[in-house]
Amino acid sequence: MGKHLRKKIIAGNWKMNMMVADAEDLASSILRDLPEGREVDIVLCPPFTSLKVVGERIEESLIKLGAQDMHWEASGAYTGEISAAMLRDLYCRYVILGHSERREYFGETDLIVNEKVKAAIEATLVPIVCIGETLDQRERGDTEDVVRRQLEGGLAGVDLGASKELVIAYEPVWAIGTGVTATPEQAQDVHAFIREVLGEMMGSSTASRIRIQYGGSMKSENAADLLVQPDIDGGLVGGASLESRSFVEIVRAAIPKDPETIDSEEDWEDS
Ligand code: PEP
Repeated sequence: MGKHLRKKIIAGNWKMNMMVADAEDLASSILRDLPEGREVDIVLCPPFTSLKVVGERIEESLIKLGAQDMHWEASGAYTGEISAAMLRDLYCRYVILGHSERREYFGETDLIVNEKVKAAIEATLVPIVCIGETLDQRERGDTEDVVRRQLEGGLAGVDLGASKELVIAYEPVWAIGTGVTATPEQAQDVHAFIREVLGEMMGSSTASRIRIQYGGSMKSENAADLLVQPDIDGGLVGGASLESRSFVEIVRAAIPKDPETIDSEEDWEDS
């Protein structure tokens, strides 16, 4: 996409970890350790129970708040669930949807992910839609089919319009929490394919605006090589986001050498 680069986005997925006080401490440490500047978008996704306190800690900063899941209905008899409006009420800007752990342990299908994506966008949340193949699927040569199916199913009928935003996280399931990372070339190949499919679905101009994060054992040692790839626009970080130093090092690795080339945030509606 010529001289313009998509602004990198690094999100920490804290999963089901940390009590409220630990989450507050981690947010404080990240704030203290982060370099100045706004060349990278940073998102913290604590568990529901810590959204409020983390939101209050980062309120005055450029860090954005994200949730790890939500329900697709606006309200009602859905015991245990949380709606998009409830997340907005706590000043969430992002929500992770369709994480492989939700697909594997909670039976989330592309249809469910699709309902959630539409509800999130409607509520002006930015969905971070997770897709990716299992080891079996990769070994059978099915990676592209799987990723295409997840994109076409999860994003069916999604109208992004000029001001709506969406982030894709490519997370090969075999790399999540395993310490095994996709090579930069393996990841770049799939990211380029994802952008191609997004182009078929939404047009190439929209596809070129959508940021595609890599996720799966990203850490400070491998982040720079992944983030330099042309279609890798950031990272969704699990384990390495639970410690300020490793998370901040990944953020540092995402800072572009030539910030002049970053597309401005005004390209998307911000709130
Ligand atoms: C994740 O769960 O989104 C993830 C990428 O985890 P990890 O970094 O621990 O592999």
